[in-house]
Amino acid sequence: MTYALVTGGSRGIGRAICIQLARDGYAVIINYVNNAEAARQTKLLVEEAGGVAELLKFDVSNKEEVDTCLEKWEDEHPEDFISVLVNNAGIRQDAVMIFMQDSQWKDVIDTTLNGFFFVTRRVLKGMLTKRRGRVINIVSLSGQKGLPGQTNYSAAKAALIGATKALAQEIGARKVTVNAVAPGYVETDMTKDLDQNALKSMIPLGRFGKPEEIAYLVSFLASDKASYITGETISINGGIYT
Ligand code: NDP
Repeated sequence: MTYALVTGGSRGIGRAICIQLARDGYAVIINYVNNAEAARQTKLLVEEAGGVAELLKFDVSNKEEVDTCLEKWEDEHPEDFISVLVNNAGIRQDAVMIFMQDSQWKDVIDTTLNGFFFVTRRVLKGMLTKRRGRVINIVSLSGQKGLPGQTNYSAAKAALIGATKALAQEIGARKVTVNAVAPGYVETDMTKDLDQNALKSMIPLGRFGKPEEIAYLVSFLASDKASYITGETISINGGIYT
């Protein structure tokens, strides 16, 4: 079977991506770190959509956990292949820089940037051997223009955009594409403390995005229709100029 691995698939944008990729015909691996109940709910939604899914708990920022879990998965699935990797797991720990704690800086970089590195390095081996694959990194408007109060998050996402460009050039000859999707404000747990009414006035389309709208773009980038797109960062933010 051909699998799609979605990190942080238990909630929000990751959940919508799991459901959409299942509709597209992939067996889905739903990764999560804490929230087993939400991950099980995503699995149910995938099954309701006619798909198949497996849960895989690991902390993307923990190298040993990533390697151990993915090795075990590969041992148990000798005939199967992860052809789509969506690096979606992410956290926000906002603070203005003068008050930012070491842990707030480190945790955000560890999850977004080191998480991308540990998971992608592991999954890439199969893609390069098969000469087929899609790596899709969920970045952010914050990594493109910078947002005050988010120097940690903006730095992590901007670095991930740089890694996307470099890796795309490195492995293009193996027919594996690497792209980034940069959402603006999307209605999820991550943004539930934000004042939507205040923020939506600066969004030309006048509203926050929905997780499904991000999933449609990921679905396109994962498909054969996107086979000549690589190294790109595609904004999906309701028209905010980037
Ligand atoms: P949510 O907070 O709703 O969900 C975060 C997901 O990431 C959860 O599934 C969570 O798992 C998982 N996760 C967090 N840390 C880890 C970890 N160390 N290892 C594995 N999984 C982890 O976030 P969103 O859906 O809003 O965001 C998804 C992605 O989109 C993130 O990368 C975010 O930065 C990005 N983004 C979001 C925007 C928005 O407006 N919402 C805008 C731009 C970008 P668990 O359930 O187990 O905690």
